Amino acid sequence: MKLKLDLHTHCGEATALYTPTLEIVKRIVAAVRAKNLDGIAITEHYNRSYGYRVKEMVQKDLGDQLLIIPGQEVDKGLLHLVMLYLPDDVTFRFIAHPGYPRVDNLESQIDDSIHGIELKNPCHDDDIDQPLVEEIAQRHNLFLLTNSDAHFLSDIGAYHNEIDIDEMCHRARQ
Ligand SMILES: [Zn+2]
Repeated sequence: MKLKLDLHTHCGEATALYTPTLEIVKRIVAAVRAKNLDGIAITEHYNRSYGYRVKEMVQKDLGDQLLIIPGQEVDKGLLHLVMLYLPDDVTFRFIAHPGYPRVDNLESQIDDSIHGIELKNPCHDDDIDQPLVEEIAQRHNLFLLTNSDAHFLSDIGAYHNEIDIDEMCHRARQ
């Protein structure tokens, strides 16, 4: 089943607080609902626990069914890599905003550990060579993703994907 998901957000940076309070989690949920999304991934820089905490609070404290995918964003050589922690201990990895930072040979940076790549990112659309990214995605069987990279809660859902989690898990297990 395809879901409407924004897979790259920085809710911690957006709220300048890395221990989510109930008030903040309510604001995150409201921001996601306002864009009619089925869920988001929370991908703080070098911080996987924030996303897990928000996920737990959404489920336990709010009793909300909104899908929260914990993740984080890290450096991979010259690239920025987002890791998403999917069910059954599956980790899905994608290149965030290819072209920023600029690399001479983007394709040489792609290896078997990568499962997706961003085609659109409102913070970096001018840096992304879309035809090149589409070619690379086809050659390496990568999911093409369109995410907000939100650094403000109101930017969540600026772009989103219509995507099947089971298909992402399947791709990440290959
Ligand atoms: Zn980011």
